[in-house]
Amino acid sequence: MSFRPRYTGLIERYRDFLPLSDDARIISLGEGDTPLIRLNNIPKELPAEVAIYVKYEGLNPTGSFKDRGMTMAITKTVAAGNHAVICASTGNTSASAAAYAARAGLIAFVIIPEGKIAQGKLAQAMMHGAVIIQIEGNFDDGMQIVKEVSSQAPVEIVNSINPFRLQGQKTAAFEIIEELGRAPDYHCLPLGNAGNISAYWMGYTQFYQEGIVTKRPKMCAYQASGAAPFLRGHPVINPETVATAIRIGNPQSWDLAWAAQRESGGWFDEFSDEEILAAQKLLAVKEGIFCEPASAISIAGALRDVKSGKIPAGSVITCTLTGHGLKDPDTAIKQSTGPVIKVKATLTEVKQAILANLENLK
Ligand SMILES: *Cc1c(COP(=O)(O)O)cnc(C)c1O
Repeated sequence: MSFRPRYTGLIERYRDFLPLSDDARIISLGEGDTPLIRLNNIPKELPAEVAIYVKYEGLNPTGSFKDRGMTMAITKTVAAGNHAVICASTGNTSASAAAYAARAGLIAFVIIPEGKIAQGKLAQAMMHGAVIIQIEGNFDDGMQIVKEVSSQAPVEIVNSINPFRLQGQKTAAFEIIEELGRAPDYHCLPLGNAGNISAYWMGYTQFYQEGIVTKRPKMCAYQASGAAPFLRGHPVINPETVATAIRIGNPQSWDLAWAAQRESGGWFDEFSDEEILAAQKLLAVKEGIFCEPASAISIAGALRDVKSGKIPAGSVITCTLTGHGLKDPDTAIKQSTGPVIKVKATLTEVKQAILANLENLK
């Protein structure tokens, strides 16, 4: 038994690769260092042999990858001597901003779309004491307002247009490379505001340029059909999807995402809400991993692209599971098909129910 040093977050871990002064007071909740889990059961049903790993970002402190960017953005805000932050959010950015602002002693203003935010995310922003401004509009409306208000009020934007957000988020690519000992061949992830694909590409490229790896993955990113500006080639006015985290019609990192796709030789594709929910369920039932709907689109994408041969046999694939399934319990319960059997509280009835079901499942 050997002891290992206490993990204190991704800034300490990757300080040499991050733009931060030595005397900065680091605001961390121990984000990063998330598991890279190899899928065991799902790949067996594929026509070609591939290795699929999921980067389980739902295990970050507030349950999504947004914490990687937020530790940097809030650390920088504190270093600059500012006292308030603001973001527009489909939910996870507000949860993360609220938590890190609380940790730093800052005020967080979060602008969220009315009625379209998952329960868990709203609970987090409320619990951490953020000032919640609910607008009669969608994420894109909120984003526009945030950009304008930050030039007229002393508040720091912590959306992914804040360059330090992407700097923090790129560390997920570093972790993947360290665990695999190489870069994957394909990296699949959901595409919403497009910050994350840009950050991963930045991370992979940095380790490539440092000579730590000799190649970079093809970046494959997926959108919900009702919110697919990258597939349409232009912004979408009224984006709609059950995957609320990617319900975005006017992505802020438009050019960066196109560059990542082009330079890597990857692609964009789209999925219906039914396909997204089916992938979420498949991962939960076959592998024991619960991610939120938006995250599952990376699995839908990897599986479709392996089946079609776009991703060839022998490939090493990583999929980012961007957020935890517990973020959105309503959607999960609504689509659950698992039987709930109601019986009297007696040994006889419970035993009967067990035996009947064992018989059915044979
Ligand atoms: C923010 C988010 C996304 C989209 O990431 P972008 O950087 O906006 O493309 C996907 N899934 C979840 C769970 C998210 O919170």
